[in-house]
Amino acid sequence: MKKIFLLSSYILLIFTFTQCTAPNSADNKELQNNNQQNTVENFWNKTPSFNADSCYWYIKYQVQLGPRNPGSKAHEKSIEWLKKFFENSQLTTSLQKFPAATYDNQQWIGTNIIAQYQPELKNRILLCAHYDTRPFADRDTEKNKHTPILGANDGASGVAVIMSIVDAVQKSPLHNIGIDIVLFDLEDYGNPGGEAITWCLGAQYWSKNLSPTSIKPKEGILLDMVGDTNAVFPKEGISIRYHPVLVHEIWSIAQKAGFANYFIDESTNEITDDHLFINTYANIPCIDIIHYYPHQSDFFEHHHKVSDDMRNISKRTLLVVGQSILYYLYKQEEKSQLN
Ligand SMILES: [Zn+2]
Repeated sequence: MKKIFLLSSYILLIFTFTQCTAPNSADNKELQNNNQQNTVENFWNKTPSFNADSCYWYIKYQVQLGPRNPGSKAHEKSIEWLKKFFENSQLTTSLQKFPAATYDNQQWIGTNIIAQYQPELKNRILLCAHYDTRPFADRDTEKNKHTPILGANDGASGVAVIMSIVDAVQKSPLHNIGIDIVLFDLEDYGNPGGEAITWCLGAQYWSKNLSPTSIKPKEGILLDMVGDTNAVFPKEGISIRYHPVLVHEIWSIAQKAGFANYFIDESTNEITDDHLFINTYANIPCIDIIHYYPHQSDFFEHHHKVSDDMRNISKRTLLVVGQSILYYLYKQEEKSQLN
C-alpha cells in the first residue's frame, strides 16, 4: 500500500530541526504556558527530567563493548551488564533463555532480559527494545557486507532510553503504575528478503511464553533507532492498527512539549518489528517509536552499515524520546490518582 504525502511540508520539517544543547529550557517555557491553560494537567510539573547525558553514556558503553551480535563476547557482556543495572535499580530481574534457529540454519540459545518495576501492580505498561546487533552490515559496500555492526542507534539507543527512564522513575517513584521491561535478543538476525518470522526471534518467544504468574501489561511501547541526529518518528502502520489511541496520545504529548519536528504528523506503511509479535502473539496492544522516512520508505542513513556508530547519536533526540515517554507515564499516574 502506498501513500501520497505533501513533499513540501516534509522538507520544511527537515529544515526546521533545531540542535538545542540545553535540554529542557525552551521546552519548559512552553510547558509552563500549557500548564496555565490547563490546570488539571499537573503531570507536566510532576514529571522528572530525562537525563540525556547518562543516556548517551549508556549507548557509548554498549558500543565500546563492540558489536553485540549473538555468539560474540560483547553480546554476553552486555547481558551481564544490563542484568546488573536492573538489579541495582531494585527491579525484579530475570533472564529468559530460549532456543532459536536463524534463517542461515544456525542454532542459538537466545536470552531476553526481563525487569519488572512494582510487579504486584495491576496497571502495567510494557517498555521494550532489542539489545542484539546485526551480525552483518548487509546494506554497506561490498567490502563491509560481512562485518558485524556496532548498532549505536540500531540496538543500543532503545536500551539506553529505557535505562534512563528507570533512573528517572527511581528518583520520582510512580505509585500506581507498574512497568515491565523486556530487552529482546535476536531481533536483528533476519533475512532481508525473507519472511517477517525470520526477524524478532526473542520477541516471538517472549510473546508466546508469557509468564503465567505475571500480570499482563495493558499496553506497550517499543523503541527502535531512537538516537540519530536526524531522527523523525512517523506514526507507524502496525501501531495505528493495534493501538491508535496510544499513538495519538504519545504524539500529541510530544508535540505539546515542543517536539513536533521529531514526532511528525505523518503515517507510514507497516514495519516488521518486535511489536508485530507482541500484538499478534501476546495480544498486548503495542506501538513502535521508530526512525523512518515515510517519503523514501527507508530507515536512517546508517541502517545496517558499519557507520552506525557514536558519531550519529544526538542527546537532543534521546531527550525528545525519553522525555515524551516520561510525560506519558506521569500522566497515567495522575489519571490513576483521579480515578
Ligand atoms: Zn536493525
